[in-house]
Amino acid sequence: MNFGFVINNRTCIGCHACSTACKSENEVPLGTYRTWVKYIETGRYPDVSRRFQVTRCNHCANPPCVKICPVSAMYQRSDGIVEFDGEQCIGCKACLQACPYDAIYIDPEQGTAAKCHYCSHRVETGLEPACVVVCPTHSIIAGDMDDPNSEISRVLGKEATTVRKPEQGTEPKLFYVDGDNVSLNPIATAKPDTMMFADVVDTSLHGSSNEQRSVPGDKSSGNERMAEQMVQTTYNAQHRAPWHWQVPAYLVTKALASGIFIFLCLGILLDLFVVNMATMSLSSLVSLFFLGITTALLIFDLERPERFLRIILQPQWKSWLTKGAFLLMGFGLLSTFWWALETFLYLGILESHWAEVRAWLNILMLPLAIGAAIYTAFLFAQAEGRDLWQSSLLPLHLFVQALCMGSAFFISADSVVSLTAPLRTWATYIFVLTLAVSLAITLLGEVLIPHASQTAAKAAKEMHSGKYALFFWFGGIILGHMVPLLCISLGGSLAANIAVVCAIAGLYFYEHAFVMAPQEIPNS
Ligand code: SF4
Repeated sequence: MNFGFVINNRTCIGCHACSTACKSENEVPLGTYRTWVKYIETGRYPDVSRRFQVTRCNHCANPPCVKICPVSAMYQRSDGIVEFDGEQCIGCKACLQACPYDAIYIDPEQGTAAKCHYCSHRVETGLEPACVVVCPTHSIIAGDMDDPNSEISRVLGKEATTVRKPEQGTEPKLFYVDGDNVSLNPIATAKPDTMMFADVVDTSLHGSSNEQRSVPGDKSSGNERMAEQMVQTTYNAQHRAPWHWQVPAYLVTKALASGIFIFLCLGILLDLFVVNMATMSLSSLVSLFFLGITTALLIFDLERPERFLRIILQPQWKSWLTKGAFLLMGFGLLSTFWWALETFLYLGILESHWAEVRAWLNILMLPLAIGAAIYTAFLFAQAEGRDLWQSSLLPLHLFVQALCMGSAFFISADSVVSLTAPLRTWATYIFVLTLAVSLAITLLGEVLIPHASQTAAKAAKEMHSGKYALFFWFGGIILGHMVPLLCISLGGSLAANIAVVCAIAGLYFYEHAFVMAPQEIPNS
């Protein structure tokens, strides 16, 4: 069995019967949709035409939403249906970022992910999905594509069909007859200022994932625009950004927690400096403090935070969210052990020969700290709905940012504990070097080197020349790189501390732009 859909755009009349039948059959809450009809208008008055495109989950053969889910709440059945289990979902919203088709939303009543599930409860009793039964023009055909005698197989055999975003490699199983690029490609039309039946909402704000305010009768502005533009979207579901300030904040605190140990472990391993017990104890404690904030941010960003332990107890190992959680856990355990060792040595509770354990801890800690710093790059790579995050420079950038934050901590720590001269000197060298490298990566990666896809290029433009330009240039580049470099060149402890504060604040602003800008680009 291999279930799929064919939607015939040639015969669809845009009546929304499928959308309403789906809402009624699946009790979809107000303001959210599992399927909807997108309207696209083309031409110039009076020679205009309106096209419809029914949009929903594609039940991909290679579904990225399943791969990224840390607890197998999103899963693929043996009959090809991509199903979800609201009872299992922790509300991490990673599947919303992974789906390149905006098919998933967060159920505002349950706080869990939901989407078209092919009316699997009906299919199991031999019935067709509700949208298929209700369609007055039989424009939606559902069935087993492995059965050569099924209607869907016969239609697929005789009609030329297209799918949405085939370049994503997800192998969608929703095939459109008469699907055209303008309707299928979400960035083929400009973001509308207004829509038929609905206001345009600010998608970067908090709220349910595809919520829109209904404004009955507000058609005037849409009609005026029809005469001016050759192509425009006049009706669509508007999706809000699933991730907000918590994600950039987590990137900063994680960089601080892991960077402190990366800096220390590399320095000890390369014999660049020695670290006394007081410094070691303080550094481990500060790293643990930032790791605690990182964990809290991750947990409280879940829509169902009380279920967070499921990542550990029922892990889905293909997800980098799961791998990341275990990396952070291992990192946290080892940091705690190291902190206890150094503190007990410092207080004389342990004999001095215990200090020999430090060499082994160093070898174990370095890969864990690097893993904790860079795993987010692999998580972001699984978020197939955000092309900008698919950058091959990201692991290196996260490593450099973490090392920069680690060295920044030691520059500030100098005023609290007395660092050895080589440690102080190396902290400044590494801070300056990593700031320069990070600046180069940021400018090359986001501004100068062409992006691999049009969607990534659009998101990058949104970041450096659009809505997030202020965060990017004044926050990320000037405050986060230029000012710290200038302060360090001035010398003195006050200037060094200002440099550290600016670098941390600047990193947050840059991450904010990097996380938010791709979420502005529509996927449907
Ligand atoms: Fe459906 Fe999106 Fe998952 Fe594909 S990636 S199966 S369209 S939810």
